[in-house]
Amino acid sequence: MIGRRTLSRLFQGHHGPFKMQVRHLNLLEYQSHKLLRDFNIPVPNGLVVTSAEEARKVVSDISAPSVLKAQVLAGGRGKGKYDSDGKGGVRIVTWPKEAYENASQMLGYHLTTKQTPPGGLFVNKLYIYKAVDVADEFYLALTFDRGRGMPVLLISDVGGTNIESNIDKLQKFWFHLPTGLTTEIISYIQAQLGFSDKEMVVVDKILHQMIKLFREKDATLLELNPLVRTHDGKFICLDAKFSFDNAARFRQEELFSLEERSPEEEVEYQASKLGLSYVRLDGNIGNIVNGAGLAMATNDLISLYGGKCANFLDVGGGATKQTLSKAFEILNNDSRIKGILVNIYGGIVRCDMIAESIVAAANATGGFKVPVVVRLQGTNCPQALQLIENSGLDNVIVDADFESAAQMIVDRVGNM
Ligand code: ADP
Ligand code: MG
Repeated sequence: MIGRRTLSRLFQGHHGPFKMQVRHLNLLEYQSHKLLRDFNIPVPNGLVVTSAEEARKVVSDISAPSVLKAQVLAGGRGKGKYDSDGKGGVRIVTWPKEAYENASQMLGYHLTTKQTPPGGLFVNKLYIYKAVDVADEFYLALTFDRGRGMPVLLISDVGGTNIESNIDKLQKFWFHLPTGLTTEIISYIQAQLGFSDKEMVVVDKILHQMIKLFREKDATLLELNPLVRTHDGKFICLDAKFSFDNAARFRQEELFSLEERSPEEEVEYQASKLGLSYVRLDGNIGNIVNGAGLAMATNDLISLYGGKCANFLDVGGGATKQTLSKAFEILNNDSRIKGILVNIYGGIVRCDMIAESIVAAANATGGFKVPVVVRLQGTNCPQALQLIENSGLDNVIVDADFESAAQMIVDRVGNM
């Protein structure tokens, strides 16, 4: 698949940048195949395995050369490198014994590709299907060109693993979703890619179904790479990548239930369900703040005094005891955190409610294990400060001033 950076480069220039700041749901290959099958786009019949023994059995049942494919949310697997034996994430095997040996080096190890983080991604599933007799590899993709505000079809006859280096050979066709591809575009594609009339009927149907899927499922990217032509003239999609707009979550419940999250993403997801905007950062000072603007200012100020934030956490204007207790729970479970700054401006929320929540959170865990600096301002502030003082909690320092509170938490953490 094409990396995001390349995709965004494709749509820069006079049409404006192709911005991809929204969060996306991505699917694993086997999940994508299921969706394609539901829309009558030809895909191989594959099976998912989680052990080397199962891999041996599946290849023995196929009783033909088969492909073992690491299921990770990143492209470039074929040319990737495993931390076990240095080989790639797409392997052709002939015999069941070979399947067993290769699967043993693929499951439970990390695969690094051009599109993964440096340490690679952990692989716990392989997708296996019969090897296909590939004659040609094509690239077909649908995405949105935000600059033009239109969907665009990207197509190339040099698909496969070298797509990134052949990016200039991609042809782009803009179209309207309700009308789909015009007959002119279809004829042009046929001429450019040299499909026979008979082949074009098949490709046309695939394109038609891709657009239907793209529209019905609120996709932001649908990429078939490669769509292959076999030596006997059949078309089949070997690898696919989908992204769906997070804003479609409420309409596409079934689809989003497939989402695979890393433990870190799971925390962000659980927080978002309670209305908290939580993003993990790589420092050691935890923050609990109300309002995104104040949260940004807090992170900035901590950096200014030489500290590093472990998170961005906006509990929202309508913070409740429940959301605050969730916020403390997240920070308590994060072993990197050496100090916490609570920075609340009581406009709609009342400071005394915040103070009660802080005391309750401390009591629930038998006191705070790291220093906590609390800066409260606004509605019922004096009562709140009194409440915290009366609670007799050690490890909690109250400060009404934003700057000195930020400085204090940095000092405390620095002195530990
Ligand atoms: P990735 O894009 O992550 O490297 P692909 O699934 O696209 O993974 O596989 C990479 C390449 O491996 C394909 O371009 C194709 O040439 C080859 N390949 C993948 N699956 C099969 C298969 N079932 N039969 C034959 N070749 C395959
Ligand atoms: Mg691919």
